[in-house]
Amino acid sequence: MNATDFAVELRSVRRTYRRGPEPVIGLADVTIGFPFGTFTAVMGPSGSGKSTLLRSAAGLEAIDGGEVRVDGTVLGGLRDKELTVLRRERIGFVFQSFNLLPALTAAQNVALPARLSGRRPGPAEVTAALAAVGLADRAGHRPAELSGGQQQRVAIARALITRPAVLLADEPTGALDSSSGREVLALLRGMADDPGRAVVMVTHDPVAAGYADRVLFLRDGRLAGSLERPTAEQVAARMTALEAQTSEAQPSEAQPSGVQPAGTQVSDAQAPEAVAC
Ligand code: ADP
Ligand code: MG
Repeated sequence: MNATDFAVELRSVRRTYRRGPEPVIGLADVTIGFPFGTFTAVMGPSGSGKSTLLRSAAGLEAIDGGEVRVDGTVLGGLRDKELTVLRRERIGFVFQSFNLLPALTAAQNVALPARLSGRRPGPAEVTAALAAVGLADRAGHRPAELSGGQQQRVAIARALITRPAVLLADEPTGALDSSSGREVLALLRGMADDPGRAVVMVTHDPVAAGYADRVLFLRDGRLAGSLERPTAEQVAARMTALEAQTSEAQPSEAQPSGVQPAGTQVSDAQAPEAVAC
């Protein structure tokens, strides 16, 4: 496969956090490509580097080694301003906690990234973006007037209005009930079928991962295997094995192992990231 077939590519990416007395590994050495037109789920025990991988792919993380390419452009070679523009125009990010601006309507939230890029999207474009997520009739509603699932769909419309090469979603269904979660997953699935885009989603839920073309497993900041065309059962079995290995290695941080019933999620205790739109 050519490098240009990848919407995002990580080559030997390393990220170590050095805030405390001991360095903490975010990503040890990760090389992976996300082809256009595909949907990848990223799974792994809490602390295995899933969010670090997503933030690195989005240019939100200052990596210590290796390189990240988005649509063929090496992020490390860009000036701050160029990186900001590339992030706004080529990368969409969806958070577990939606991160909509509460004072703005759904339509205003959706229009915001394009406006920040110096382009004022017309009402028809905003309506089309909302219609694509099934919310054309909610354009004038503020986030507090929408359900969690609707808010996440607005966030997806906002992430897609600039037509990014990649949509990165960190536990997008983690705060939703299972039926809203399924709607969001079906949307992400459809968006990954666009040949000009890749979708990468972090999830704890084997059922959610079952919507993807491929699941990548992380452990201790490294790739620990993958599954193509996964079923929820295969994913759950692999996760149970991974978590058992992790608890053997770090008995003080043992994770509850075992399969979650379909539709339930284990959330990791992580502060919501800053808005990046
Ligand atoms: P995951 O999303 O798989 O739960 P993360 O990518 O958030 O894992 O974190 C990977 C490791 O890096 C963890 O040990 C975590 O504590 C550490 N880490 C993540 N972000 C920071 C940060 N900003 N400062 C210090 N350590 C961090
Ligand atoms: Mg995380």
